[in-house]
Amino acid sequence: MISFVGAGPGDVDLITVKGRRLLEEADIVIYAGSLVSNEHLKFCKDECEIKNSASMTLEEVIEVMESGERKAQKVVRLHTGDPTIYGAIREQMDILDDKGISYEVVPGVSSFTAACSAIKREFTLPGVSQTVILTRIEGRTSVPESEDLEKLASYGASMAIFLSIQQIDNVVEKLKKGYGRSDVPIAVVYKATWEDEKTIIGTLEDIAERVKAEGINKTAQILVGDFIYGKYERSKLYDPKFSHEYRKASK
Ligand code: SAH
Repeated sequence: MISFVGAGPGDVDLITVKGRRLLEEADIVIYAGSLVSNEHLKFCKDECEIKNSASMTLEEVIEVMESGERKAQKVVRLHTGDPTIYGAIREQMDILDDKGISYEVVPGVSSFTAACSAIKREFTLPGVSQTVILTRIEGRTSVPESEDLEKLASYGASMAIFLSIQQIDNVVEKLKKGYGRSDVPIAVVYKATWEDEKTIIGTLEDIAERVKAEGINKTAQILVGDFIYGKYERSKLYDPKFSHEYRKASK
């Protein structure tokens, strides 16, 4: 059996109970060594075979999975955060489908929610935004033109920008154009939930300078929007004057 497992953002206790159990039982673990904490591997059996996919190709990863499957071994493919977001799991699953090998996908805590927790905020505030956009700036991987950062920013939704910190100047420029103002709050969270986590909260005006001063150029989330600072409305759910399925309004 092959299990794609989300390891969570960093802190080893932020894997799911199910993910941890699969790691404990695994005969083979292929982990994304560039971002997944080694500490997860301490939960594996002594005889568990451990491979770091950082230096492997897709074909090599599949080969390890296939050989495990042939021996009826339990294989865990450990991805950072949640595997369904920038995890490059689809291409693995499609090959496994072609080969008739079954698999499961176990979700994880993504770095975008971990980063929002680190700054103690909520993406979805009544009267501010009820939408979260997860995106990235174009790098070596292209982004469809219709999803250009400037265009997305024009919606004024809450945004979590992955894989883009090394292009912070470009990001800020596009956001300024898209929002049409430069006082929009923005946070950069470096290595959310790791011991060396760093957070910076500022505006489009000062963030790039501060990110550079801290020397942050990888493994960071860029969170943008008025959910970070400013007014919002109270939720209807906990409003005494509002009834719902589980609670009657007080008179
Ligand atoms: N599947 C992962 C994302 C992988 S893409 C997830 O759900 O989080 C890698 C990008 O994720 C990094 O460039 C960075 O933008 C972000 N990232 C991953 N771990 C992070 C962390 N602990 N703190 C901040 N950003 C992180």
